[in-house]
Amino acid sequence: MSKPSVYGFTQEQLIEWLLPHGHKKFRAQQVWDWLYRKRVTTFAEMTDVNSACLALLEEHYAISTLEEHTKQVSADGTVKFLFRLSDGNLIETVLMRHKFGLSVCVTTQVGCNIGCSFCASGLLAKSRDLTSGEITEQIMKVQLYLDAAGQGERVSHIVVMGIGEPFDNYKHMSDFINTVKDHKGLAIGPRHITVSTSGLAGKIREFADSDLNTNLAVSLHAPNDELRTRIMKINKAIPIAKLMDAIDYYLEKTNRRITLEYILLKDVNDKVEHALELAELVGDRRDLVNVNLIPYNPVDEHSQYQRSTPEAIDAFYDVMKKQNVSCSVRLEHGADIDAACGQLRSKQIRKEA
Ligand code: SF4
Repeated sequence: MSKPSVYGFTQEQLIEWLLPHGHKKFRAQQVWDWLYRKRVTTFAEMTDVNSACLALLEEHYAISTLEEHTKQVSADGTVKFLFRLSDGNLIETVLMRHKFGLSVCVTTQVGCNIGCSFCASGLLAKSRDLTSGEITEQIMKVQLYLDAAGQGERVSHIVVMGIGEPFDNYKHMSDFINTVKDHKGLAIGPRHITVSTSGLAGKIREFADSDLNTNLAVSLHAPNDELRTRIMKINKAIPIAKLMDAIDYYLEKTNRRITLEYILLKDVNDKVEHALELAELVGDRRDLVNVNLIPYNPVDEHSQYQRSTPEAIDAFYDVMKKQNVSCSVRLEHGADIDAACGQLRSKQIRKEA
């Protein structure tokens, strides 16, 4: 059986694992520094760590468990990685360049059970959760790619928006966040990390009560239950009223801004009447809500959905502005490569089938 990733430890967990094996706290801190600051790729390179500790780590853990299968580089600098996990499954990770820095979108599950009707990732049911090590290693693989380019670039932002529902893999997701924000490691500030959920109300409350302190985005995609259930079957179990209750709890508890994601599907949810209904739903939460409009990237498997026209996107945006709702339109990244989330992975899986 293959060894798990050493990136699966938070610093605290590494200390707790090494102590009963006779290694002091400072050893764990040295190992941590080699992993996240000096970013070595073998245990043997940790030259100030004693051989007994290195042998122990080597016996139980691996530094590299993801193998790069494919890398697509877009003209705009977006890089889409397809990684093969040690059990043969494939996952996607995306590096995006923005004016404000470099962000990485990570995957949290192999497949997804939420089954949003527009999504290439949700076509295959979840076969397993990723470990926190496998989630963290996606960031490390991208950072090592940047290190190798020699431009001194750093991953500055993370979006947990790739394949999977992060709140359905809550423990591993929170260990991952604690690892990447550790100020002695990658030190990515929690306000530079955004976790996106399809709207698991109970977990939104748990997240509000936690000390993870990252940004939260909720995929709304429709302003009423009838339409949302059509687009996202999760809405049957967690209808909008229940979701908004959880959002209100989050807003009250944290007083932090939340993003409502709204994917624009031509003639489905992109009309002026939908924008007005959405503004009404946001209602008096508008001070703490930003609506992020996402022009749809069509995928072959969901031919019932098309991209909204530029006029429809503008009209929707104008209504939001007129209704005093903070609103943005997501910029497209990697339009010349397989831009939709999960598209590269599903193409490769079809090839291998
Ligand atoms: S959009 Fe996200 S939550 Fe919905 S099926 Fe796709 S991966 Fe799952």
